[in-house]
Amino acid sequence: MRLILVGPPGAGKGTQAVQLSHHFSIPHISTGDIFRLNIKGETKLGLLAKSFMDAGNLVPDSVTNDMVADRLTHDDAKSGFLLDGYPRNIEQADFLKGVLEKAGTPLDAVLEFKLESAEIIKRLSGRRVCRDCGANSHTIFNPPKVSGVCDECGGELYHRKDDDEDVITHRLEVYAEQTEPIISYYQSTELLKTISAVGEVSEIAARAIAALK
Ligand code: AMP
Repeated sequence: MRLILVGPPGAGKGTQAVQLSHHFSIPHISTGDIFRLNIKGETKLGLLAKSFMDAGNLVPDSVTNDMVADRLTHDDAKSGFLLDGYPRNIEQADFLKGVLEKAGTPLDAVLEFKLESAEIIKRLSGRRVCRDCGANSHTIFNPPKVSGVCDECGGELYHRKDDDEDVITHRLEVYAEQTEPIISYYQSTELLKTISAVGEVSEIAARAIAALK
């Protein structure tokens, strides 16, 4: 299974990616997670990405495309992958198409998650992320057993700077202007499946799996 997840920030792509990556036994490749790991490790890539991410803007394609192309050459991606947060504009979608065509490994599906803006803001402003393992929780909808501590690994939970309300608004604009056009791009290739991102995690996962059958 070679799969892409598309949807606005806060639609739960990361959470569902974990479920789907287990279900299909494919690696979960999140460009946002790779950037955050690089920021944590204070690498050159991390230093470059940070200012774009903090402002809610896209990291330049020249950097992002090469990073994804390299990640797709890893052994674990040979029998499939799930891309979460990539592509995020038409240029990236074209670049990915070229990489996959060259490798003779076309996409199987693009799964779109739909969610209203008001719900997105509620979800993102309460979202907390583990500094160590990247797991997500939510102060109201999915609170950790101990406040500020990750249920998965005991790491410290933090509020992403780009989940501040003013940055969220900008990220939604960036999504509408730059990312939404890829939905019609994939619609024309008949790869697109659209599901509602409203409901419990397990309910949405079941919906996603059914759509991909
Ligand atoms: P995410 O974790 O997917 O919400 O991504 C967080 C941030 O990382 C985004 O707001 C961008 O700044 C950056 N980012 C993630 N994926 C991409 C991408 N495909 N292209 C450009 N920037 C990205």
